[in-house]
Amino acid sequence: MNRVPYTEDHDLSQIKSLDELKEMALACRRCNLRAECTNVVFGEGNPTAGLMLIGEGPGAEEDRLGKPFAGKAGQLLDQILGAVDLDRYEHTYIANVVKCRPPGNRVPRPEEARRCLPWLYRQIELLSPALIVLLGSTALQNLVDPQARITKMRGQWLHSKSGIKIMPTYHPAALLRDPGKKRPVWEDFQMIRDEYLKINNR
Ligand code: SF4
Repeated sequence: MNRVPYTEDHDLSQIKSLDELKEMALACRRCNLRAECTNVVFGEGNPTAGLMLIGEGPGAEEDRLGKPFAGKAGQLLDQILGAVDLDRYEHTYIANVVKCRPPGNRVPRPEEARRCLPWLYRQIELLSPALIVLLGSTALQNLVDPQARITKMRGQWLHSKSGIKIMPTYHPAALLRDPGKKRPVWEDFQMIRDEYLKINNR
């Protein structure tokens, strides 16, 4: 497949498949982050799972492998999912606010997020999940409200205009820094698992 350069005025709604969107994203040069990273980390998982997890951006290990949540935070995420009987590759699809690694794992700048978000928006449209889990404040602030605080919003179901149920919770990396956050995240993922079972009629 030919990679089509994604320009500012490119209409991503014309892109009808996840594979095609990925091909285009891998060729993206829309912001300065691409110049310093190794891989564009598009996202992965089960496209039909109905449950999408969205984090902040790739770290060093993710950049090296081209896979989301591949480092220590990813291992912890796998454990959290496993504790509520969910498997990341079977029951979820995982992506990030930005698809290229910010140098030094800094938070993506607003302009970088603004340029990258059209990829994620189209990804969400194509995946059409019933549930989205926002992992951490960067995902919450870029997808819900720039002023939102993860400490206040986590553990509550929000509703998108298109009917998607959205749960913000802490990013696994925050749990590595502060193990006191493990309990609330465990409680949040129990609610997420219950809702997941409901939508899948189990
Ligand atoms: S971070 Fe997003 S917008 Fe920037 S170059 Fe990578 S894919 Fe493109």
